[in-house]
Amino acid sequence: MDWETAIHDTRFRDIGDLPTGFRLYSFKELMIRPFSLNELYIVGAGHRADSIRHVIRAAEIVTSCDVNQLTDGDFAYVLAWLRINSYPESPINAVWQCKSKSLLDHKRRPLNMSKAAGKSFAEIDRLGWTLKECGHENVYLAHNASMDITVLEDFDLPEGLSFPTVSTLVEAEDLMEEPEFTHILDALRWIKEGKTLRDKYEYVKSLGNLELFNKAKEMANGRITHGITETVPIECMMCSTKQTVFDKVPSFIKFFAAYTETSLYNIQYNLTTAFNIFIEDTMPSQKLLYMHSSYVKDLNEKKERDALKAATRRKGR
Ligand SMILES: [Zn+2]
Repeated sequence: MDWETAIHDTRFRDIGDLPTGFRLYSFKELMIRPFSLNELYIVGAGHRADSIRHVIRAAEIVTSCDVNQLTDGDFAYVLAWLRINSYPESPINAVWQCKSKSLLDHKRRPLNMSKAAGKSFAEIDRLGWTLKECGHENVYLAHNASMDITVLEDFDLPEGLSFPTVSTLVEAEDLMEEPEFTHILDALRWIKEGKTLRDKYEYVKSLGNLELFNKAKEMANGRITHGITETVPIECMMCSTKQTVFDKVPSFIKFFAAYTETSLYNIQYNLTTAFNIFIEDTMPSQKLLYMHSSYVKDLNEKKERDALKAATRRKGR
């Protein structure tokens, strides 16, 4: 979306400063509008396809700049703004793989870990037990998570590097499957020369040494220079291990709570039939979700009251 269109649309708001302070861009202001129902459909499709494309597309529709120019850090900030302004609450959608170990007996029933204390692997093996990593991929909404913003400090990026931007995210996702690229993508995204990641790769190869690539790798593995991080208390749904993840850079694909197409149809249907109003796809998502949660709450309260009335009647008889 462009600035001219955004400025004439009253739904757009000035987002204020970005973590980079706009110093890397030609534009110095950014307008965004919160998601409407339309964008919830797009975001939901991204969850299903497990692809970054949809989140980028949804963000592109609601911002006054070409989001491809944004650094990862600024993009994360834009997404955080969207999450706060497009959903009634802003739970953090935590996605994490449980690394905790669990102990199983010979029938693969869970055993208390304390039983393994002092036993060697050979002994555990002899008993027919197995020690395995839980590995469960948890996806759930963490309501008591917190978010921190890191602002870009003045520092000189090594010559030949530039901050990774949204422009290479889709290509990185596609190249992830190619063994030649799998392990170098994060570093490659820091190389300034070349438009695409393939161009950057050819450029690095043409240098004849790994000096620049190693600097890029260092930046990719280093602490974040700007953007947002989350602190999320988590609990594994499979083995109930509890822990808190600090300074986690959020996943872009799973950044927003996902509503499936069916759940969105249901929300529209419920409100349409309950209040006899037509819900347009352009309705602000925050308003829609708020209305629906109020509707569900009222409905549940009514059910409780009715149940109580029925119980009192039975007693009185
Ligand atoms: Zn687990």
